[in-house]
Amino acid sequence: MGLVSARLWQRPLYVRSAYLCVLAVVLPLLVWNGFVQQINSTFLDILLRMRPSAKDAGVQEIVLLAIDDGTLARYGPLPLKRSILADGLKRLHAFAPRVVAIDLLLAEPTAPSEDERLAEALRLFRGRLVLAAALASSANGAAEWILPAAAFRDNTAVAHVHAAPDSDGDVRSVLLAKSNGTRRFWALGLEALRVARDFDRPLETRSFVQIGDIRIPASSEAERAMTINYAGPEGTFATVPFLAILEGSAPREIFRDKIVILGVTAQGGGDRLFTPMSSGIGMSGIEIHANVARTVLDRAFLVPLNLLTQLALYTALAGVCVLGIGRYRGWRLIGLLAIIALLLPIASIIALQRGTVWPLGSLFAVFLASAGIAGVSEYAFVTAALKSSEQKRREYAFRVQAIAHEIKTPLTAIQGSSELISEQILPETERLEMVSLIHKESRRLVTLIHTFLDVERLAAGTLTIELRPVELKAVVDEVLDRARLYAARKKTSIDVEVPPIMLDADAELLSFAVYNLLTNAVKYSPKQSLVLLQAREANGSISLSVADQGYGIAVADQQKIFEKFYRVKHKETTSEEGSGIGLALVKEIVTQHGGRIFVESKPGTGSRFTILLPARRT
Ligand code: ADP
Repeated sequence: MGLVSARLWQRPLYVRSAYLCVLAVVLPLLVWNGFVQQINSTFLDILLRMRPSAKDAGVQEIVLLAIDDGTLARYGPLPLKRSILADGLKRLHAFAPRVVAIDLLLAEPTAPSEDERLAEALRLFRGRLVLAAALASSANGAAEWILPAAAFRDNTAVAHVHAAPDSDGDVRSVLLAKSNGTRRFWALGLEALRVARDFDRPLETRSFVQIGDIRIPASSEAERAMTINYAGPEGTFATVPFLAILEGSAPREIFRDKIVILGVTAQGGGDRLFTPMSSGIGMSGIEIHANVARTVLDRAFLVPLNLLTQLALYTALAGVCVLGIGRYRGWRLIGLLAIIALLLPIASIIALQRGTVWPLGSLFAVFLASAGIAGVSEYAFVTAALKSSEQKRREYAFRVQAIAHEIKTPLTAIQGSSELISEQILPETERLEMVSLIHKESRRLVTLIHTFLDVERLAAGTLTIELRPVELKAVVDEVLDRARLYAARKKTSIDVEVPPIMLDADAELLSFAVYNLLTNAVKYSPKQSLVLLQAREANGSISLSVADQGYGIAVADQQKIFEKFYRVKHKETTSEEGSGIGLALVKEIVTQHGGRIFVESKPGTGSRFTILLPARRT
C-alpha cells in the first residue's frame, strides 16, 4: 500500500494524539475496574487449575483428621460429644504428631465430666496445640471473640478460623491476622506451622510478615491478606477419618511428626467453601487451613506483579498493537495479533511458576482495546487516504481532459491546413494563408501549453508570477481576435469599452483569464446575444468586467463555480463542453496578482464577472 505511509509517526497529529489519550485515559479505566479484576481472578483460577497437584514438603507434612459423614453416622450428631473427642485425641497422641490444630469452637462449657475429659486429653498436647477462635458480633454490635473455654486454654495457642471469600464467593486469600480492635489472632494454618517449628510470634513490616526465617509477602493492611497457593483440588492432603482413630484402624505412622488439622468435613457440617480449585462440593475448612500452612511452608507465595512493571507491560502491549496495526496488513497482522494473544497466557503461566501473578484479564483488556482502537482508526485513516487519493486521481484525469480539449482546436486547424497543402496544389496566396494559419495556431498552442504549465505551477505554489507594466488594451486586443472567432459560432457579438490603462501584470496569464471569461460568457448564453467587456480605473483599483445575457447562475452556485472542476448542473449549461477548471484557474491568476474576482448573476437574465486588480502605483 504505497499510498498510505506505514509509520505511525507520519500519521496526522490527531491520530497520534488519539493514541496518547487512549494510553493515558482509557487504559487505566480498563485495567482498574471491578469487572476486569474479576476476569483477572477467573484467569488465575484457570491457570491454577491447569497445574498438576503439588507434592512438596508442605503437602507431605500435613495430615487432615476429618470428622466426616462416616464419623457422624456413628458418633454424631454435631457437636461431637467432648468425651468422644477426648477419646480420639488420646489415641492420636500415641501416634506422636508434631502439632494438632483443632478447627472446632470449644467455647461453651458442657457437662463437667465431658469437659474434664477433653481438658485432660488436650493437656497431653501442651505446647503442641492450636485451638480455634472466631469473631461474632455481640448484642451491642461490637465484634467479640468466641474463645476456647478457659479449661482448654492451658498455655495453648489460639488462632482465628475466619474465611475471607472474594465477592464471587471463592476463597483465594487468607487474612493472616484478624482483630476486633482489642485482640488480634493469627490464622490457624500459620499458627499451626509456627508452633510446629517452634518459631516465635510473627514479626511484621509494611511489606511482609515473618515467622522464623520465612518471609511472607502479605498486604500492608492490618489483616495482612495472603494469596493461598492451593496445592491441588480437594483431597490433595492425606486425610484420615476421625472414625478410623476412634476404632483403631488408622495407620499410626501417618501421623508421626506431622501437623494434624482436626475439623469437620461432613457435607452437612457447614464448613465447606468454594475455592478456585473446587469442584461442585467445595473444600473443607481444614483443607483450606492446610493450604495456607503449605503455602507458607513451601514458600510458594503468589505475589501480584508490581505496579510499575504492570504499567510498563500495558504500555508496551498497547505500543506493539498500535505500531503493528500501523505497519502490517493481512496475514502478517493477523499473525502478529495471534502471537500476542498466545504469548500473554504463556508468559502468565511461566510467571506463575515463579510465583508472580500476572493480571491476565487486564492484559487482554488492554490488548483488545488498543488493537480495536488502532484498527478502527487505521481503517478510517486508510479509507480517508484512499478517498483523497482517488479525488486527486480524478482531478488529474480532468486536467488532462481539459488540456486535451483546449489543444484540440488549434491542432485541428493545423492538421486541416497541412493536409490541404500536402494534398492539393493551391494558388500561392492561399498556400501562404494556410502556412500563416499553421504558424499562428502552433504559436497559440505553445502559448496555451505554457499558460497551462504556469497555472499548474502557480496552483502548486512553485511559480511566482512576474509583474511587468502592461497596457490593458493590448492584452484585451490580443484575446479579442480569438474570442470573436469563438463567438462567431453562436453569432454572438462582443463589445468592448476599455480606456487606456497601464497596470502591473503577467500579460500571458492575464490574457488567459480574460479569454476564459469571454468564452464562458459566449458558451453559457443563447445564440445571438451580446457580451460586453468593460474596464475602468477608480479609487486605486482597476475593474474589468465581462457581462452577458446568458442563462445566469443560481446564488447557491455562485461561490462554487470558482472551485476546481465544479460545473453547474443545469440543462442548458451542462450540454456545453467543459471541465470546470477554467474559473478556478482565473481565480488563482487574479489572486496571484493581488486582486479578487466576483460574480453577480440572475438566472435567466445574465451574469457579470468582475476582476478587481490593484492600480499601478505612481
Ligand atoms: P467550464 O466552463 O469548463 O465548465 P468553468 O470553471 O469556466 O468551467 O466554469 C464553471 C461553471 O460555471 C460552468 O460549468 C458553468 O456552469 C458556470 N459558468 C461559468 N461562466 C458562466 C457564465 N458566464 N454564465 C453562466 N454560467 C457560467
